[in-house]
Amino acid sequence: MRVMVSADMEGATGVTAPADVEPGTEQWQRFRRMLTGDVNAAVDGLFAGGAADVVINEAHSTQRNVLIEELDPRASMITGRHKPLAMMQGIEDADAVVFLGYHTGAGERGVLAHTYVWSGLLELRINGVPASEGRMNALLAAELGVPVVLVTGDDLTCADAETYAPDAERVTVKFCISRYAARCLAPARTAVLIREAAERALPAAGGRTPPRPEGPFSFEVDMSATHLAEFVTAIPGVELSGRRTVTYTLPTMFEAVRCFRAVTALIGAAKEAVFD
Ligand SMILES: [Zn+2]
Repeated sequence: MRVMVSADMEGATGVTAPADVEPGTEQWQRFRRMLTGDVNAAVDGLFAGGAADVVINEAHSTQRNVLIEELDPRASMITGRHKPLAMMQGIEDADAVVFLGYHTGAGERGVLAHTYVWSGLLELRINGVPASEGRMNALLAAELGVPVVLVTGDDLTCADAETYAPDAERVTVKFCISRYAARCLAPARTAVLIREAAERALPAAGGRTPPRPEGPFSFEVDMSATHLAEFVTAIPGVELSGRRTVTYTLPTMFEAVRCFRAVTALIGAAKEAVFD
């Protein structure tokens, strides 16, 4: 069993503030260690539960957050950005996937809730259903026949995961109070919870593959300003469907997720520092 761990940061142990996840800040340096602790707890549990290989794929921001010098030597990691499948790089070679340090989607309650970009994008809907990164990535994994076996994050992220990966193990590392506040469990406690859940994850999945989702996939993206929506229509097939909304439809999740990356890259490019 080869397991890919998609390691995001907003849902890591102790993280509640933008500075905690913003590369270069003092707080980010501190919370990289916390994220690495969550990763190592998952790696330890996955091997105990029967994994033959574990690959960590960095999924947050510059995708250079996990401290390789502290990584469990049994695992390897994909670090750095501009990967064809971004948060899901490595999924093609995996038999199971873990969503670690995940968070709820833009427009939802939850610690540091967002979808790809921290501002400018108000909601993503896939075939009419509001979708977090977790839901989108789970659909892509299912299309490739790979089950989600473990999700970690705040309590609302775990509730979200229950709707898109009901058979996956879930670990709540903090309880949301607001977008920037939570009651957090100590790292020594979350390490135990993550390790135990990771050990259960592969046996609990029992080698089952998820049902392949039916295409086509229609992505609707609400943005905070008209110029953002107009700007992203530069991508062929992406059309305005409202003043601040664009829609596109593609036959597979593989294509739709790659297009979503282009949409969010253009949102990032068109945002101004003060007026977004
Ligand atoms: Zn994320």
